[in-house]
Amino acid sequence: WTDSNTSISSTNSYEAMVKVIQTKPRFHSIKDAIHNKILNLRAEGRVDERSFYICDIGEIRRQLNLWKSELPFIKPYYAVKCNPNEEFIKNMISIEPEMGFDCASLAEIETILRINGFINRDNLIYANPIKPISQLRYANNNDVNLTTIDSIEEVEKIANFTDGKMKVLIRIQTDDSSATCPLSVKFGANLQYSEKIVEKCIQLGVQIRGVAFHVGSGFKDSNTLVKAVDDSYKLIEIIEKNQGNKCDIIDVGGGFSKESFKESAKILRQEMEFKFGKSISNGEIKVISELGRFLSASCFTLVSNVIGTREEIGGGKTRVYLNDGLYGNLNCILYDHQEVEPIVITSNGEYVYQESKSNDKKLYSIWGPTCDGLDCISKRVELNYDIKCGDFIGFENCGAYTNAAATKFNGFTNEFDYEFIES
Ligand code: PLP
Repeated sequence: WTDSNTSISSTNSYEAMVKVIQTKPRFHSIKDAIHNKILNLRAEGRVDERSFYICDIGEIRRQLNLWKSELPFIKPYYAVKCNPNEEFIKNMISIEPEMGFDCASLAEIETILRINGFINRDNLIYANPIKPISQLRYANNNDVNLTTIDSIEEVEKIANFTDGKMKVLIRIQTDDSSATCPLSVKFGANLQYSEKIVEKCIQLGVQIRGVAFHVGSGFKDSNTLVKAVDDSYKLIEIIEKNQGNKCDIIDVGGGFSKESFKESAKILRQEMEFKFGKSISNGEIKVISELGRFLSASCFTLVSNVIGTREEIGGGKTRVYLNDGLYGNLNCILYDHQEVEPIVITSNGEYVYQESKSNDKKLYSIWGPTCDGLDCISKRVELNYDIKCGDFIGFENCGAYTNAAATKFNGFTNEFDYEFIES
């Protein structure tokens, strides 16, 4: 992408932008792109400056197709927080021009409007139940007029600080005990309290368009979706009875992961059809999802440079130190409980294959560049290669909650290079 000789920033219309994005990337395999990138970095003398990502546009396409084949009645709203890389989002829009976006802050709304100021505002949701007044005003002034709430106080805020156009979805509490990152500990109203929110909305003239839920990021137990759909049904009945007009949106949140998607999609599809089938098929209810990791995780491979090695005294292990770690792009290990599997790449950019039966394995631990002992990427890994300073280590599935939360701790950069490929 970066080598395509075209510039997005010079375009000022949506059509022009989509045309520019469609420029073909130069590589079709992640391995070739890594090899080429490493040769270029070597030529420039920049191998250890920062790590780099390879993003596979083909994977965005495949994940979107998988979504459409399993849940064709649910419109995806990409959760920008998951990976706000603008080139990634532009590519997503070029594949799915009517893509929706879940923005949780002013900066995320700004990102989407910068990419496409012409975006149909129905494709945006300000999905954060607690909003700073200044950011709520910004959304309202920019015609982003659908938001989630889970408290009476937020209804008052909307009534007092917006122009009457801001509509709401009530976010309900879910059972997210199986999730990698539970969210209901912080957000969501139970049915009893939701009734009070409904009353407040009616009293202050804030229109409720429907219900939202999130069963937790990276959830494992798909049955929690059933309860969330059933609770949504109950709340929608209450809203419609009290408000006098129909709800027209159900937001089923995110949390889906590639590995378990088919199973969770089946459970969600069945329950939605059971509870809302008629309203969905006659177009009365639009169903949306704030999917993050499902779309972005598998699109990115991270490659970092080995900046040093050291034998552990008496330990039989070698410590390998990288130019990226838990305070940088691999913060997903800490915050997102991600387990990463290192791929060894030589200083010449060649993959080193790991034969499971090899007797030649050496024991390693892998560390980030900061001075903190917490900055450990892997405590123990066996590899059949003698890793040296200047080699590289790659990590697949690094597109979700990685760079988005990277810090500059210890003065190490949280910037990164990236290349787009299409496999
Ligand atoms: N929507 C909301 C409100 C969230 O808090 C999150 C993640 O924290 C998401 C969507 C995206 O979730 P995921 O990346 O697990 O799909």
